[in-house]
Amino acid sequence: ALAVPDKQVESVCPYCGVGCQLTYNVKDDKILFVEGRDGPANHGRLCVKGRYGFDYAHHPQRLTVPLIRRADAPKTGDFSMDPDRVMDIFREATWEEALEFAGGKLRAIREQYGKKSLAGFGSAKGSNEEAYLFQKLVRTGFGSNNVDHCTRLCHASSVVALLEGIGSGAVSNPVMDVTKAEVVFLIGANPTVNHPVAATWLKNAIRNGTKLILLDPRKSELARMAHRSLQFKADTDVALLNAMMNVIVTEGLVDQAFIDDRTTGYEELKKNVEGYSPEAMAPICGIDAEAIRYVARLYATSKASMILWGMGVSQHVHGTDNARCLIALALMTGQIGRPGTGLHPLRGQNNVQGASDAGLIPMMFPDYQHVTNPEVRANFEKAWHVAPGSLDDKPGLTVVEVMHAIKHGDIRGMYVMGENPAMSDPDANHAREALAALDHLVVQDIFLTETCYLADVILPASAFPEKDGSFTNTDRLVQMGRKAVNPPGDARQDLWIIQEIANKLDCDWDYKHVSEVFDEMRHTMPSIGGITWERLEREHSVTYPCVQEGDPGQSVVFVEDFPRADGKARFVPADIIPANERPDTEYPMVLITGRQLEHWHTGSMTRRATVLDALEPDPVALVHPLDLAAMGGQPGDVITIESRRGEVCLYARADESSPRGAVFVPFCYYEAAINRLTNSALDPFAKIPEFKYCAIRVKVG
Ligand code: SF4
Repeated sequence: ALAVPDKQVESVCPYCGVGCQLTYNVKDDKILFVEGRDGPANHGRLCVKGRYGFDYAHHPQRLTVPLIRRADAPKTGDFSMDPDRVMDIFREATWEEALEFAGGKLRAIREQYGKKSLAGFGSAKGSNEEAYLFQKLVRTGFGSNNVDHCTRLCHASSVVALLEGIGSGAVSNPVMDVTKAEVVFLIGANPTVNHPVAATWLKNAIRNGTKLILLDPRKSELARMAHRSLQFKADTDVALLNAMMNVIVTEGLVDQAFIDDRTTGYEELKKNVEGYSPEAMAPICGIDAEAIRYVARLYATSKASMILWGMGVSQHVHGTDNARCLIALALMTGQIGRPGTGLHPLRGQNNVQGASDAGLIPMMFPDYQHVTNPEVRANFEKAWHVAPGSLDDKPGLTVVEVMHAIKHGDIRGMYVMGENPAMSDPDANHAREALAALDHLVVQDIFLTETCYLADVILPASAFPEKDGSFTNTDRLVQMGRKAVNPPGDARQDLWIIQEIANKLDCDWDYKHVSEVFDEMRHTMPSIGGITWERLEREHSVTYPCVQEGDPGQSVVFVEDFPRADGKARFVPADIIPANERPDTEYPMVLITGRQLEHWHTGSMTRRATVLDALEPDPVALVHPLDLAAMGGQPGDVITIESRRGEVCLYARADESSPRGAVFVPFCYYEAAINRLTNSALDPFAKIPEFKYCAIRVKVG
């Protein structure tokens, strides 16, 4: 007989930044099924991950007891070991022993090597409150700003450009505004796969007359519905966007009144794009000059044009420059500050916006208040009850910089909560060697991830449906996630674990409920100052900026001014910088990494969700059929992909969306961990690695 739920719990999806609201249907402390709710971002819709990706929480491989590495177990980084042999490497411990070992050793390292010898990676999978407490622990307990999370690997460059150009790192308009746009300009993003419910709103809009301009080196499924689809060459974003701006300037399509009233720096930008005629840039970009002219005119002259972008834009050594160009495009045409216009970097993980807002980044305290500002530091010292002058006044190390610092002996101990850098970092072999070289690694997670294998102590944590907390989606909606089931065994709430570790480092915290953490957050973060826990409980979601209690929240911002000192947005010109590692005779092809519909990030959750794993069980590489034929292969063949940093073997899938000479590989498969091949070269402004371009060679077999 069909089981009937004994409880329904209203929450949000744990996967992407769209932030679909859902209902967990629960019986006997198990989730039976999930349904969509009428949330502002989804109105009842869910994609395959949201609907079927829930039973990872009940997977038998959940961590249920603290583990401590055996003294004689080497940190070999051998991830192919039999999971049944885990107990040869770790032994079970009580919470008391594990916390004393975890926190006590971190404290000892701090005392022996100094405050900057520790670092922490939090997670965009966690709640706002977890992110806030984690960064507070690093800043007050460790004593430095060495705290970061996966935003460094996805949209850090977009955020740097947005903060610099328009004074806010978040989106200007919600996804749903595509239904109000006359033109949608979508670049370097594949929302059908990565933000599926957002893609459904876009498809609805197109059916109602919105014109989609799609620009991407890969020809995604949305190309079929696009008014114009331009498959430009990977790595040529700045050339293409500057050429569009050249057209807009030379043909007099700028919004001069907007430029005069609301921006600075236009003359410098205008001068810069003079040298980027479409005719000169067309061969570089691999598309016709006329096509560039056409889309530039269409974008500039529509009543409302909206730009959305993804990691095809951000994950380059010129990611910040790419985003600067998009911002300039919107500013010079006045396509911002109204419904159906604006700038929307589609955020990846479900709480990457909120975790960044909450200060889980090395250069800023919560709400993007800079650590170098003495007034800001004094305010946080007061709010956090720490000694005046005690907060670090220098920006901390970013994700990839931490790995280099470990290799140099500067970082000796780490606390990693919910991240899996052994899989997600570029040049993952280097990252794994670095993690193995630490004197002390504390990992808090729900499964034995690839990073856990290198840990000295593993703390079993709570999965998404096992805790209360707020989460902020790509639209700046702060939403309530609610506890539906209990953690298994002796796994504990993440907030409790963070607090216990903090107290081992002399923090003396006593938060009794998640709402107390949220209340402290909102008093240090002006943009959410008007959102109370009670309101979130009542309304389920509130958009920020919401400065005063009772504010409705602003879904469209920059209507009258920009949150910069002079109230004006700033143009920042950009010139062409090539990818760090170009193809050559030895490595003649290009590797592009990303996600696929069924699996999320490093796969630790979705590959343990029954339906999702059944749909996509094996590692695949997407190769153009002509390239595959040229190397003597067929769909389904095993191929070996090799870069200067490593090699992986996986199945070839013929895919006409891939450009000739490029191979696309999802990064979720531990048995073919593609980040062993990627390049750790960084964008100089945002320190984001170049996941979207490195040189490889491929062979069948
Ligand atoms: Fe979850 Fe994103 Fe799918 Fe919505 S679109 S159900 S938030 S993965």
